[in-house]
Amino acid sequence: MSRIIKKLHLCALLPLLALAGCTPADSSAAGGQSAASLVQMVELNKNLETSAADDNYRTVYEVFVYSFCDSDNDGIGDLQGLISKLDYIQDLGFTEIWLMPVCPSQTYHKYDVDDYTAIDPSYGTLDDFDQLIAECNKRNINVITDLVLNHTSDTHPWFVQAWDYLKELPEDWGASAEYCPYFDYYNFSREQLDGYAPLADTNWYYEARFWSEMPDLNLDSENVRKEISEIMKFWLDHGVSGFRLDAVTSYYTGNNEESIEFLKWLVSEGKSMKKDCYFVGEGWTDRSSFAAFYASGIDSMFDFSFANSDGVIAAVLKGADAKAYGQAQVNEQELFSSYSTDYINAPFYTNHDMARSAGYYVNDGGTKVKMSGAMNLLMSGNAFVYYGEELGMKGSGKDENKRAPMYWSADPEAEGMCDGPADMDEVKMVWPPYEEQKDDPLSIYTYYKEAVRIRNAFKAISHGTVTMLDDISDSSICAYTKEYEGQKVLLVFNTKGEAKDVSLSSYSEFNTLKAVLNTNEEEITLKDGSLHMPAFSIAVLTGE
Ligand code: CA
Repeated sequence: MSRIIKKLHLCALLPLLALAGCTPADSSAAGGQSAASLVQMVELNKNLETSAADDNYRTVYEVFVYSFCDSDNDGIGDLQGLISKLDYIQDLGFTEIWLMPVCPSQTYHKYDVDDYTAIDPSYGTLDDFDQLIAECNKRNINVITDLVLNHTSDTHPWFVQAWDYLKELPEDWGASAEYCPYFDYYNFSREQLDGYAPLADTNWYYEARFWSEMPDLNLDSENVRKEISEIMKFWLDHGVSGFRLDAVTSYYTGNNEESIEFLKWLVSEGKSMKKDCYFVGEGWTDRSSFAAFYASGIDSMFDFSFANSDGVIAAVLKGADAKAYGQAQVNEQELFSSYSTDYINAPFYTNHDMARSAGYYVNDGGTKVKMSGAMNLLMSGNAFVYYGEELGMKGSGKDENKRAPMYWSADPEAEGMCDGPADMDEVKMVWPPYEEQKDDPLSIYTYYKEAVRIRNAFKAISHGTVTMLDDISDSSICAYTKEYEGQKVLLVFNTKGEAKDVSLSSYSEFNTLKAVLNTNEEEITLKDGSLHMPAFSIAVLTGE
């Protein structure tokens, strides 16, 4: 087994060594200690100082507990497994965790909840959850949980009791919440309306937009709203910092105005319990539509326009003009702040519903996987990374494949390894597992760690406002400044496969190369106002 891993490991290095003019025969000399000298970024960036995160502009790691780390050897990831990996998450520089749903559910993904105030037994107990929070507090890591409010499971007691009531209701009687309060929790109808499913053993139908086993909640119901308040209070009392809101554009399908009104109530309710309670909403739609949800007062909306294989980042790395990456950020600043001046963008690159990024770029030697990760992490706001992206994990096609076991080891029997969802295909990884990447200065893992380090070292990068430098930006170079509370940095990206020299004569105040991200051994240099940018490289400059 270890020989196969070694071979894979060497293959990962070969494209870089080839660029360096090394023949494969030199590769053994380039491995290990001496490889560090090939990588400017590790040497330069180690001088960066990080200040502790103290607000909701963080660096977030999205965890699917089921596939992350198994502590009791039943093949299913669990909270104790996650606790055992908090040092890993902290060491990468993450300051927040988004937990995908952890409540009891019939499905492996748990987006159909059976009980909103308990932990799924396969994941552990509430005591485990409390321990997780305590351990995260020690590390200044915030935890937000998924709050799935559009629908419940059809096995949720609310739905089951409403169903029982309708089954026994005589044909010619009218139904009423007076006799069964849960009748009011969902949207039942005598007619089969659009998006409604037949209710078995009755003449009724119910709204179920995603799936017949996920009945939509009636969010107009005062009683449902009371339940939601109690659910939020329960988790806030257990120490969460906020919530990731599933499917906010589906709250009132086809009526964004009503969905925004509901969200307004929800956000103010949460913030009345905890002033800085953080909310991030999922609205998988076009930019102008999800931007409008900022009118609700929600902190963040996921920035779908930069994500996925067809988003701004992938488009630029597949050939679109580099400057489009900066210009799109400027456009967003104007758009989002037109709805809320307190907005915190939520950039992300992939998530549990998207193919993993290692499959977006064919035979690129990992270069674009690295570069794209940094282009996400260097954006302003609360930046999200899906677990395993820092290793360049693969996974596409059916949803289960996108949620494959965290690749700690190539040995599926190794400690902590999960089995993954039952219907998952065999997912073939292209890049080595964590245990093979962690000490390799040229690995995707090391690169991600450096990108997070840079993000956490400059508030101007995590919080700042972007101003494009159009005169030095073009098809291969994107250059912009970011400014926050008097701190100003210049960011330069070379998004193409050829080195380029950029004249900074008009920007001489940026005279210090502070941090770099390299994807090959060629160094970024700043000399006499000329910035040399190797292929696929990123430079951060400041004044002295
Ligand atoms: Ca387990």
